[in-house]
Amino acid sequence: MMPCNKEVVSDMLKSVLSLLLSLALAVSYPLSAYADSEPMFEPPLESSSAYSSDTGALSDNDQESNAQKAGGGEFDCSDGTAKSHEEAVLPEGVLDAYSIGEILDFVYLESSFVSLGGTQRVVVSFADLDMGITSAKLQYQRPGCNGLLSIDASDIVDGAVLFELEPDAIQAVGEYELVAVQVSLASENPNFSFTIALDECNDDFHPYIFSVVASEAVDEQSVSMSAYAIDENGSLTQANDVESALRIAADSANDEGGDRESKNDAPSALSRGLDARRTTSTLQDGKLVVALDPGHGGSDSGAVNEDKGLQEKNLTLKIAQYCKLELEQYFGIDVYMTRTSDEYVGLEERVNRAIAAGSDVFVSIHINSAGGNGAEVWVPNDSSWYGDLHDVGWDLGNKVLSKLVALGLADRGVKFDDYIENGGLFYPDGSPADGFSVIRNSRKNGIPGIIVEHAFIDNAENAAFLQSDDNLKKLGMADAEGIAQQYGKSKKPYYLQGIDFSPDASQGIGQPVLISARVSGDTRGLNYKYVWHKSGQDWNDGQWGIVKDLGGTSTVSWQQNEPGDYEIFCDVVDATGDVMSSVADYRIDPWAFAAAALSSSEPALGDAVTVSASVQGDTAGLSYKYSYENLS
Ligand SMILES: [Zn+2]
Repeated sequence: MMPCNKEVVSDMLKSVLSLLLSLALAVSYPLSAYADSEPMFEPPLESSSAYSSDTGALSDNDQESNAQKAGGGEFDCSDGTAKSHEEAVLPEGVLDAYSIGEILDFVYLESSFVSLGGTQRVVVSFADLDMGITSAKLQYQRPGCNGLLSIDASDIVDGAVLFELEPDAIQAVGEYELVAVQVSLASENPNFSFTIALDECNDDFHPYIFSVVASEAVDEQSVSMSAYAIDENGSLTQANDVESALRIAADSANDEGGDRESKNDAPSALSRGLDARRTTSTLQDGKLVVALDPGHGGSDSGAVNEDKGLQEKNLTLKIAQYCKLELEQYFGIDVYMTRTSDEYVGLEERVNRAIAAGSDVFVSIHINSAGGNGAEVWVPNDSSWYGDLHDVGWDLGNKVLSKLVALGLADRGVKFDDYIENGGLFYPDGSPADGFSVIRNSRKNGIPGIIVEHAFIDNAENAAFLQSDDNLKKLGMADAEGIAQQYGKSKKPYYLQGIDFSPDASQGIGQPVLISARVSGDTRGLNYKYVWHKSGQDWNDGQWGIVKDLGGTSTVSWQQNEPGDYEIFCDVVDATGDVMSSVADYRIDPWAFAAAALSSSEPALGDAVTVSASVQGDTAGLSYKYSYENLS
């Protein structure tokens, strides 16, 4: 799955890499500093210069045709053209993926599938828009083939570089993988360039791959696109950063537009990157940030069923928490909660919080009321403005709903509506705005927002269902499965099933409790952290503590001198830093019966035997009863 183990690269080497990178970006810095700063590491300047001299790369005068570089059109890679490029291997000392996040903002592939004879556009955007890129070269390959192919940038707009792989650059049916991007910067040293590897150590996302397929194989699926913003860990940064980077690049391209034909393509490809960012490809996934929005809270209890003691605000928070735990079992998903306690949050604020957290999708969790039975999901309407969000929301809504219906809830369908009150509300293009605030405001921020109405709090059958914590967990898991399915996420090779206790469910005060994470699958390299929290207490009240901080031991001992109900939280952290969590309830009793004891196990006939009970904790008010049985 992961071609490189993160542990292989020491923290020291990582910091050296980032130092080198920051030096590389500060082009005025004396170039000799590379060699001086860290002798262990092959200086990128030397190696990339060597590479430049080998290939004559990065020159505007490089007129070598794409056809030659791209190799032949044979699927088996055995054609001479491809082999003739075997010498074009990557230089030593290429900046690896640990540095990618510091220098690259995102890599965008216009299409996951390209029909034979079509054009693939790739945009590589750098974090520093003012780095002064003068030329750039994209290296790519067909996995399993020796030949390394390359193509020069067809446009450079501030920090964004456009590569157009025209038909002669992608001649053969099959997979293509981006290997590296090599850039030259405006510098006093005209040979100054560096190379960034794209093909390995990609941490928790897949390599950048697209497929060239025979024309008839391209269907509607072919429009799926990919864009990434990468942080230093190789995961997505905030959406705002990506979008602003894209917009700046696109605006700038528009300003200069028209003087070259390829310039006209740049803004459209770049702006399509925005669309890709919103829809998030199911094939090439960066980290998906899912905003879970537990409806209502604080003074707003939502719908209530007083007879059953149910309040919507509590149910939605629990469902969201269970949903979060389940989503964390998948690769490449980060979860953001718009509230984590019994807090009042306004509708617009909910979306604002989610957007600030870089969310890609907004899922609002609710319980219905006022007559009805079953589950329904509200999605963005079919207005033309950001019309793709309707499609994404519709698909997502249907996936979530089908999971809920599988639990036995009645299917009330996926729905959408327009804002019609007071003469209506309209999007900038005149199309009707969505009726629900969170859906409307998510759409304004370019992400799909849906509202999941899980069941009816005032329907007897539904209310009985909602009274069970197990069922709330099933609802949260159903939501999570629908979301993961929509975005093509797969489960991790290990699974945190829950937390085991010994003794099982309760223990007396001051007595040790053994806590262990129940993890299935491949547990190598996992670390564990345990936290206790007194149930129902505000976290600010200090009624919590760390049982054991992060470490490789999966079983820990805990004891409490305060009786009561507790929650035990467990974080399991893998080698990539990804966190999976679980929580379980445990009861500390005011006292515990440890053992009965006899003063003698084999007394002589007629001797008195003293029987005593050993009880820990508060024994005040306890009564004792002893009995015996003759076993002979
Ligand atoms: Zn509600």
